[in-house]
Amino acid sequence: GEHNLVAFVKDIMVAFERIASKRKIDFQLIASDPEVMVWFDATMLDKVIFNLLSNAFKFTPDKGRVYLYIKTTSSGQAQITVEDNGIGMTESEVAHVFEVFYQAESGYKALGTGLGLALSKELISLHKGTISVRSQPNKETAFSIELPLGNKHFQEDELQTGQAEDFSMVQNFEIQE
Ligand code: ATP
Ligand code: MG
Repeated sequence: GEHNLVAFVKDIMVAFERIASKRKIDFQLIASDPEVMVWFDATMLDKVIFNLLSNAFKFTPDKGRVYLYIKTTSSGQAQITVEDNGIGMTESEVAHVFEVFYQAESGYKALGTGLGLALSKELISLHKGTISVRSQPNKETAFSIELPLGNKHFQEDELQTGQAEDFSMVQNFEIQE
């Protein structure tokens, strides 16, 4: 269905507010508009945003910063960026980050399975969107998602309303090795 991306992201952030204040992490959302309407599957996008936030908190030390940005681009996309100033990654680690089971040497491998970003990439591509990353070791990491505005890029069966609306794309889901 169609959702206000800003309100949707705010709701997910609530789950991280306690840990942010406990760990003195500066945690903020900077949105260009109070409302950015986007067509997406809420169940899927929740998993993606939740994983990006859990990664940012996992790899950012106490007193660090996790900023989220939402804006629309001139090419007709809604863009969500999750930026942190944590441990970062090298260029060669960045190159593998969307692969199934990949976890960087510099990370904390025990705290996860290396599936979050591989799944996220699949879920974003089902939305005809893109996910990308830039990072510098011990400096920063920023993941950006771009989702097309409007709904012309979806098939009719993917836009079904009613109870099943948020699950209609799940049938097409298949993880790539
Ligand atoms: P899972 O998400 O399955 O619980 P995970 O968090 O290890 O496990 P991914 O979310 O796919 O797996 O991330 C893969 C790896 O990418 C991480 O283990 C880490 O090495 C690196 N990574 C991801 N996000 C960041 C970040 N914000 N800063 C530094 N490294 C990161
Ligand atoms: Mg993860």
